[in-house]
Amino acid sequence: MKKFYSGLLIFLIGAGNWQGKYGHATDIQSLPVKAVRDTVHTYTLYFTIDDGPLEGTPYIDSVFREEKVPADLFLVGSHVYQDELFTDYLKKLRKNKWFEFDNHSYTHANEDYNFYYAHPKIVLHDMERNQDSLHFNNTICRMPARNMWRIAGKRFDDGFSGSSSANLLKRKGYQVIGWDLEWEADSLNRPVQSPDSLFHQLKRAFYDEESFVPGHVVLLCHDWMFTNASAKKELENFIRLVKEDKEIRFEWLKKYPLYKKKK
Ligand SMILES: [Zn+2]
Repeated sequence: MKKFYSGLLIFLIGAGNWQGKYGHATDIQSLPVKAVRDTVHTYTLYFTIDDGPLEGTPYIDSVFREEKVPADLFLVGSHVYQDELFTDYLKKLRKNKWFEFDNHSYTHANEDYNFYYAHPKIVLHDMERNQDSLHFNNTICRMPARNMWRIAGKRFDDGFSGSSSANLLKRKGYQVIGWDLEWEADSLNRPVQSPDSLFHQLKRAFYDEESFVPGHVVLLCHDWMFTNASAKKELENFIRLVKEDKEIRFEWLKKYPLYKKKK
């Protein structure tokens, strides 16, 4: 499954779709909320980590406690209950004040994405089950293995299946969030880009305004990429590069320009 994601995403980027991929979907003039920029921090990075709690969780937990920057964790409910270790990891995560938690479905489609997205009601039920199980304090969700957006009247489809499911989630009150940039993983689940190279991609995404909302980049990576000291070091190094750059600030998705608070 993990290999499938990486392959899929490398394909997306490799095919050149990333370059200006929101061109047809984003009409900046019509954004209901204008991107807020101050004099020092021109750009905002939303660091998001999917699929936890899993083996990478203790490493991630430790890095963000140390670096003291915000991140959003998109959690999968079935992982919490498949192993006592992971149940325990979630308890630790909840004590980490740098983390916000968001819905990434209960089953992660059981890794059968064709079946899953052919049945939008199953997708909705799976998202609601996770919402009830982990008690998220917002209505943000990310669809398993799909870079889809449905937020504040704006939408983007990644070209794979799941469009009807995204529409249904939106109708039921979810804010579906994808990503602008991915820290990819190789076939052994190791980070592909070096911290320097990822940082360069991030700066390019800001300067070229190649994100769903210009000036605001949502970065995706996965829990299972950070399961040893070397990957942990790369995570630290990337965060430090961003922290040293006075133009960029870290934020939680609850500060995203299009985000609406749960009623
Ligand atoms: Zn996932």
